[in-house]
Amino acid sequence: MPDVHALLSASSSKRWLHCTPSVRLEEGFPNESSVYAAEGTFAHSLCEFKLGKYLHHRVTRPQSDEFYSEEIDQITDVYYEFAVGVIESMKRNGCEPLVLVEERVDYSHIAPSGFGTADLLVLGRDEDGRGLLHVIDFKAGKGVYVDCDHNSQMMLYAIGALHGYGFIYDVQTVRMTIVQPRLDNVSTFEMTADELKAWGESIKPIAKMAFEGKGEQHPGDWCRFCRAKPVCRACAEEAMALARDEFLDLDAALAAEGAEGADGADTQVAETDLTAPYKADTDTPVFKQPGLIPMSELSAILPTLNRISSWIDSVFAYVSSEAINHAVPVPGYKIVEGRSKRVFTDTKAVVDTAIQNGYTDLYKQQLITLTEFEKLMGKKKFNELLGEYVAKPPGKLALVPLDDPRPPVDLANTPDQEFSVLPDPAGTEDEG
Ligand code: SF4
Repeated sequence: MPDVHALLSASSSKRWLHCTPSVRLEEGFPNESSVYAAEGTFAHSLCEFKLGKYLHHRVTRPQSDEFYSEEIDQITDVYYEFAVGVIESMKRNGCEPLVLVEERVDYSHIAPSGFGTADLLVLGRDEDGRGLLHVIDFKAGKGVYVDCDHNSQMMLYAIGALHGYGFIYDVQTVRMTIVQPRLDNVSTFEMTADELKAWGESIKPIAKMAFEGKGEQHPGDWCRFCRAKPVCRACAEEAMALARDEFLDLDAALAAEGAEGADGADTQVAETDLTAPYKADTDTPVFKQPGLIPMSELSAILPTLNRISSWIDSVFAYVSSEAINHAVPVPGYKIVEGRSKRVFTDTKAVVDTAIQNGYTDLYKQQLITLTEFEKLMGKKKFNELLGEYVAKPPGKLALVPLDDPRPPVDLANTPDQEFSVLPDPAGTEDEG
């Protein structure tokens, strides 16, 4: 997989389409890879290898002691089987499809300097003999369900593919599919080539603004992977505005302050809640409506709270990293050492000394894991010998938004369980 990204990348397009200055605001911040991104990269290379083998390309199986697992093998198989199904069905439609794996596509005629790498492009004919382009994307993540419906990343890949190869089969229909096996998500969206081209034309001015860093910052769920997030003023103001609007009565607080300092010449009274400056939490807040908040109000602010919570985490991570890794002073704070556990410095010497002094039973025995058994015996033998002893207990209950693809749990028939809160998706996967 090539590790080169355009400024207006397809994978970040939702962000720059909604918040045009974001790509330029991010420029000063390093693009730090996460362990999830590295695992995703390995999984993609396994997908590429499996498809390459099917296509009789000369390919080498990627190796990784860190990331290879039965599960990675299984999820890449799901993608492989879907992709092969698409190719074979085009063959049944009476054509020899053009299959391009990890193909660089250029959409710079729509977004300045825009290009990206599509996991898989299949060009051929549909059941009615019309030209068909199918763009397929593999997602290894499990943090957030990715829907293909009007997905700008997929549409930009498709625009690039149409531009580069659409003439080969006179493509009239564009089909796009996201395969996200860890969430049992196979999501397909289809449009005509003309509709896709019209959408491309419609975003041209937005892409130009984004390239030039113009427009207004606009927070939303697309902020998730924005590198400017910890220092984004729009995010900070959104968080503070929510606190002001929903919980605090700043007019009352300021009126109280005004009463305290009635004879002070500097006392300022803000005009409204929204124009009042935010003050650090050394002030005692005055709550709008003492009492309890009904579920209807709480649920209305949940999506914003989820985003703000992710922003707060990113601020703490950024400030801590600046202070600890770059010695940037943070007024009012200092660096200290956390608690640590005692460790042996030389395990062999520990064992030798203990034995010399007559101590035995120094080791514990542990059963190997289910996956290790499967590796040891092979899947078939494992199922044959141990299959009857394998069960899959129900997962932990979680509250998620309605558009999550998983079916709702029937609580009336579910034994009591602990629940987890709305997951903070930040940091659980890569953007691409
Ligand atoms: S974090 Fe700020 S700059 Fe980045 S996308 Fe969100 S609003 Fe825009």
